[in-house]
Amino acid sequence: MKKKINVRLVWIAVIAVLATVIGITIIYYSLFQRQVRADLSVSAKLLRDTHYFESVNIDIDKIDLSTDIDELRVTWVAKDGTVLYDNDTSAELLQNHNDRPEIQEAFIDGVGDAVRRSDTMNKNTFYYAVLLDNGTVLRVATNAQSLWAVFISAAPIIALIILLIISVCVVISHLLTRHLLKPIEVMVSNLENADYESPYKELEPLSEMLRSQHTDILSAAKARQDFTANVSHELKTPLTAISGYAELLEGGMVGEEKQKHFYQEIRKNADRLLALINDIIKLSELDRVDHALEFEELDLYEVAAECMNELSLNAKLKDINIALDGERCIICGNRELIKELIENLAQNAIRYNNPGGKVAITVKSIDNRNCLIVKDNGIGIPAADQQRVFERFYRVDKSRSKATGGTGLGLAIVKHIVEIHDAGIELDSAPGVGTTMTIMF
Ligand code: ADP
Repeated sequence: MKKKINVRLVWIAVIAVLATVIGITIIYYSLFQRQVRADLSVSAKLLRDTHYFESVNIDIDKIDLSTDIDELRVTWVAKDGTVLYDNDTSAELLQNHNDRPEIQEAFIDGVGDAVRRSDTMNKNTFYYAVLLDNGTVLRVATNAQSLWAVFISAAPIIALIILLIISVCVVISHLLTRHLLKPIEVMVSNLENADYESPYKELEPLSEMLRSQHTDILSAAKARQDFTANVSHELKTPLTAISGYAELLEGGMVGEEKQKHFYQEIRKNADRLLALINDIIKLSELDRVDHALEFEELDLYEVAAECMNELSLNAKLKDINIALDGERCIICGNRELIKELIENLAQNAIRYNNPGGKVAITVKSIDNRNCLIVKDNGIGIPAADQQRVFERFYRVDKSRSKATGGTGLGLAIVKHIVEIHDAGIELDSAPGVGTTMTIMF
């Protein structure tokens, strides 16, 4: 960045110097041109006022202006354009001058001037012509440097100035970028300091954004760390149990009755492991941001009915009455995820219920929003835990969750699915009364 700023500043300086030099050269040259013209007009008028070229008995061969008026070419032209005299070249060698603009102008207006490029590239010839009383025209001319020549002659000085300015620019831009970037560097090193105020008002939104992103990254890293620690712990418990039971069975010291129990325990723990791993896989899939999910228009009632069928046996085994009520509600969602969401909520309603309890699933539109309501009259959730039940591995009653095959991840998955569908979730629960979960699409 510093290098970029340096290069840009140097470029700006070079362009500024060149523009100034070109501008000044043009202004200077136009002033110079005006001066040359003025000088020429003075010379021409002076010559005219001598009335030398108007005397009747003028002997052309005796006119000699070359020694007196150095660098000034004098040409005398007759009414028909014939060159009568030229102090530079013999008049006979010169063509008729009637086509020269300054001569034409002088014949008409009394005076005329013109500038033409000289034979030598870098020079211009300035002409000034005056009409004499006898009808002839007297023209004076001089060579002067062209604009390009003036520019070229100034080139070494221009190059020197540019070099000087580049050196000054490099030093200034170095100091300037250091001065400009310092607050940004300080701001970055103070990301964790919430009280830090940036010296630039303009940097405040950036600093706020960086700070919040920094906090988000830190908390995401912490959440990941906690999750990994929790996962390891959750996996370790059933594995330790499986290993223990297997070791006992391997020793062959266990009676037949106990053996059966141990096998059952091994299977139960293996099932728990499987359930855990399945839920972890689901969560990590939901965490993937690049995951392109397929959304379709689906009937919430129809999906809920499908889940009901699958859960009814489980409910019956636990002596829970499960019922579905409501109407057709079309939402845009991912069928698999919506099914997962309903299953998780209904399973919890069965799992944390009492024998003879009820689970009512309702699909209906409330205030123009399609809603799914899963209501049970089970054990309920204490107010203090209601905020935390959506956290990964948070359980109100750990032993009950584990005994009923819970992983502690069900509601975390639900929350994730709700977010993916831009929906809202409401939890209403009271211990001993029951729980109602409402999802609003
Ligand atoms: P689990 O696999 O333990 O059920 P969840 O994430 O689904 O994990 O739920 C987290 C905790 O919330 C549960 O352990 C349980 O204590 C409580 N919970 C969830 N749903 C209900 C419910 N319908 N009634 C009572 N408690 C519930």
